[in-house]
Amino acid sequence: MNAPVEPLDCLPQVGQPAGRRSTRQVVVQWGDRRVHIGSAAPIVVQSMTNTDSADAIATAIQVKQLAQAGSEIVRITVNSPEAAAEVAPIREQLDKMGIDVPLVGDFHYNGHKLLTQFPACAEALSKYRINPGNVGRGARGDDNFAQMIEVACRFRKPVRIGVNWGSLDQELLAKMMDENARRHSPLSAKAVLREALVQSAVASAERARSLGLGADMICLSAKVSGVQDLIAVYRELSRRCDYPLHLGLTEAGMGSKGIVASTAALSVLLQEGIGDTIRVSLTPAPGESRTTEVQVAQEILQTIGLRAFTPMVVACPGCGRTTSTFFQELADDIQSWLRAQMPRWRAAHPGVESMSVAVMGCVVNGPGESKHANIGISLPGSGEAPVAPVFIDGVRTVTLKGEHIAAEFQAIVDEYVRRTYSFAASPAPH
Ligand code: SF4
Repeated sequence: MNAPVEPLDCLPQVGQPAGRRSTRQVVVQWGDRRVHIGSAAPIVVQSMTNTDSADAIATAIQVKQLAQAGSEIVRITVNSPEAAAEVAPIREQLDKMGIDVPLVGDFHYNGHKLLTQFPACAEALSKYRINPGNVGRGARGDDNFAQMIEVACRFRKPVRIGVNWGSLDQELLAKMMDENARRHSPLSAKAVLREALVQSAVASAERARSLGLGADMICLSAKVSGVQDLIAVYRELSRRCDYPLHLGLTEAGMGSKGIVASTAALSVLLQEGIGDTIRVSLTPAPGESRTTEVQVAQEILQTIGLRAFTPMVVACPGCGRTTSTFFQELADDIQSWLRAQMPRWRAAHPGVESMSVAVMGCVVNGPGESKHANIGISLPGSGEAPVAPVFIDGVRTVTLKGEHIAAEFQAIVDEYVRRTYSFAASPAPH
């Protein structure tokens, strides 16, 4: 049995967020399902649909997929009377399917009308996202914003004040640019833009409070698409207020670029203790599942060590010592298989999400890495005897060989999970 690894003081540990997280907590609720954002609550994974919300069935199906992938809150677009009219049916459809994930309505331009004209929509949503840059200008904008906050107060729904630099309050920005131009030493335009984002978010939150919305009913976000800008803006936001913060790099992009940019930005902030809920804004490739963004968000939190969702596979990259693709296929199969088991394992085997599995390509690092994992297999590299020793809790056990190594290894992992992660068993030391 491996000895438990002592945590490094400088790193946040699973379930123990570091530093300057909000001390306030917002509860997003549907029925008995309560999702806590902020303070000591685990950092919440969110996602957003890309269906037309006027199509209730398609939207409910995608919400279900996102929820089953692990999204703890799902946001849907509410952009038209047709979409607003379908929000309650979407909620009903989800309830019928046993999906109690809270829904957030994403409002721009006409949210004041939709929330007031469709009370069933206002009731069926668990939170409203309001973009203060898109509520209208001047006194009319103030009135529109007030109408939305009044609905939130009446239905007792929390609100995210979600500022975005693609739709920043242009009056505020113009005013700040003018003031900056008159300074003895003007700041850069980018610095003013960042400051405007922070001011817009904080001032809108204070205005919501002055209209009667409780401080424990407000989350903030100020999204930009540049990594360094996002880090700078959220550091400042966290310094100036104590509302729970929703983190996300907006318009992150497609594929590896979107994943890397989101991970780079969010990791820096999360490591500093900034952020209470995250969304990864990936553009899916044609035909790609929307659930990829949920998986990436979970993997960011898990690889940093803030939460655990699914057993992680440690696999070597392969090199000239292993010319076959067998170990790559095995690593991929094991990763997919582990994820597929999670709905069943999550209920029956608490703690299994922290398990680590190593799939290694040869004897150089294979046995060593396998010993560090809960369970590992070291496959034979070129020139090695065609056998694959399996290590369980640091101890070499069976040696697999022949054509059925993959199936036999999965059976060993399955047996290990049943034996180790049960309500009666102590969790394994990883
Ligand atoms: S463990 Fe072996 S096969 Fe894998 S990268 Fe290292 S030397 Fe190459």
